[in-house]
Amino acid sequence: MINQIEHIGIAVKDLESANDLYEKLLNEKPYKQEYVDSEKVTTSFFKTGTNKIELLESKNPESAISKFIEKRGEGIHHIAFAVDNIEHEMKRLKEQGFQLLSEKPYKGADNKWVCFVHPKSANGVLIELCQEMGRSEK
Ligand code: ZN
Repeated sequence: MINQIEHIGIAVKDLESANDLYEKLLNEKPYKQEYVDSEKVTTSFFKTGTNKIELLESKNPESAISKFIEKRGEGIHHIAFAVDNIEHEMKRLKEQGFQLLSEKPYKGADNKWVCFVHPKSANGVLIELCQEMGRSEK
């Protein structure tokens, strides 16, 4: 099952200044900052009620985030949905004709298994599926 919007990912050029800005905007500090090796990005997370804002910065020009910023500038990068069983949802979406960016879920930020759906198959929006690690599969 696809559940609530877990977070919205925003690509930023400079994480430190973006952190300051979002701290002012949300009147709250990020609860976590983390380097994600699989994506070559540094992320920071803010709680916004039942969901989150993820800021993403990359110093690596080959990373998806750097390429995104180069092409489109800073801004909303992806929308992430929480799922109970990521492999099940990946299989379902594939059968529906969606193009997935990986064959298997992999370790993403914030203790999650993640998988992305190509924006070409989702009206120009990069979709992330994420499943909390260590949670029993349903
Ligand atoms: Zn994300």
